[in-house]
Amino acid sequence: MTSLPLVFDAPRRGLPPRHLVDLSPDERRAAVAELGEKPFRATQLANHYFGRLTVDPEAMTDIPATSRDKLVASLMPSLFTVIRKVTCDEGTTRKTLLRAHDGTLIESVLMRYPGRATLCISSQAGCGMACPFCATGQAGLTRNLSTAEIVDQVRMGAAAMRDGELPGGPGRLSNIVFMGMGEPLANLRRVIDAVHRICDPVPEGLGISQRSVTVSTVGLVPAIRKLTDEGLQVRLAVSLHTPDDELRDTLVPVNNRWKVAEVLEAARDYADKTGRRVSIEYALIRDINDHPWRADLLAKLLRKYLGQLAHVNVIPLNPTPGSKWDASPKPVEREFVRRVNEGGVACTVRDTRGQEIAAACGQLAAEG
Ligand code: SAH
Repeated sequence: MTSLPLVFDAPRRGLPPRHLVDLSPDERRAAVAELGEKPFRATQLANHYFGRLTVDPEAMTDIPATSRDKLVASLMPSLFTVIRKVTCDEGTTRKTLLRAHDGTLIESVLMRYPGRATLCISSQAGCGMACPFCATGQAGLTRNLSTAEIVDQVRMGAAAMRDGELPGGPGRLSNIVFMGMGEPLANLRRVIDAVHRICDPVPEGLGISQRSVTVSTVGLVPAIRKLTDEGLQVRLAVSLHTPDDELRDTLVPVNNRWKVAEVLEAARDYADKTGRRVSIEYALIRDINDHPWRADLLAKLLRKYLGQLAHVNVIPLNPTPGSKWDASPKPVEREFVRRVNEGGVACTVRDTRGQEIAAACGQLAAEG
C-alpha cells in the first residue's frame, strides 16, 4: 500500500482513523474529492463495503488501480486485526477476538442455527456498568467503539456467512444482538448510527432488517427514551435480573439511579411506540434471584407495566472466573419459568452457546 501523508486527523487518542462508515454520503464525496478523485468513487467504495463486504483494494476492479490504494487507505483503513478465532458447538459457534488500532481488544460471537445466524456484537471495549456477575463488567470500561468499529464486526460476520465459513455451507447473517461487550445505550449516538448502517439497504447499509436487531440495556432510562424517539424498529432487551429494587441495586448497580418501575415505564413506552415486544433478560443465579416469590412478582410487575408486550428470557448464569455464584439447578429453573408463564407472561430459557470457549453470555472479557 502506498504511504500517504496524513491529510486528515492527527492521531486521535483512542478513536480509530477516519472511516467511510462514520461519514455521511456528502462527507464521503467531499473526502474523495479532497484526494483529487471523482465524487462517484465514494459510491463505488460504499458498494464494495456494504454490498460486497470487502475492504481489499485488489478486489475493486471498477476503480483504477492507481487510485484504489489511496482511496482505501484514506476512507476504509483496516480497523481491526483478527487475533484469534475459536469455535465450539461443532463449529456452529465462533468467537472472534479483534485488536483495534490502539491495541484495544474486543470480541464478537457468530452463532449458526437451523434457518438463521446471529452475531453478538460489542459496542464498547469493556463496560462501565459493573454488574458483579458479568466478566466484562468486572474489567471496567476502556472506551466507546466508533460506529465503524461496531459495523465492521457485522461486515466480517456477514462475509463469513456468505463464504460458508461455518458448517452448513454459504448462508446469510440474519440477526444482530448488541449483547457482546459494553452497554450500547451508554454509546447511544454511535449505536443508533450503527443500526442505520447495519440496516439501510445497500449501498447505504448492510441491508439487515431492523426487526432482526436487538439492543440490550441495563436500563439507562433517559437513553431508552431517546432511542424511543428515534422511531427505529429494533427490539429492545432490558436486563432486569430481578423484580425488586433491593436486590437489583447490587446485581445491576445502575438501579441505584433508575429503579425497576422507571425502567419498566420506559420499556412500556418503547413497546407502545414500536408495537414490538420487549425482551426481559433474567440471568438465573442459584439462591440469589431464583426464588418462587420473585417469579411471581416478576410476572405481576410485567403484566402491570407491559401487559402482553413482554417476553422473559431466562439465561442460566455462566459463572465467570472467581465468581461465587452459580446457575440454578434445573428443577428450580423449570419451576421459575413455569410460575412466570402461569402468571400470564411468556417466558423461555435462552440456549447458551459458546460455553467452552468463554463466548457465552457475560463471559466476553478479551483477556487476550
Ligand atoms: N450491557 C448490556 C448488553 C451486554 S450483556 C446489558 O446488560 O443488557 C448481554 C446479557 O448477558 C445481559 O442481559 C447481561 O446481564 C447478561 N449476562 C452478563 N453476564 C452474564 C453471566 N455471567 N451469565 C449469564 N448472563 C450474563
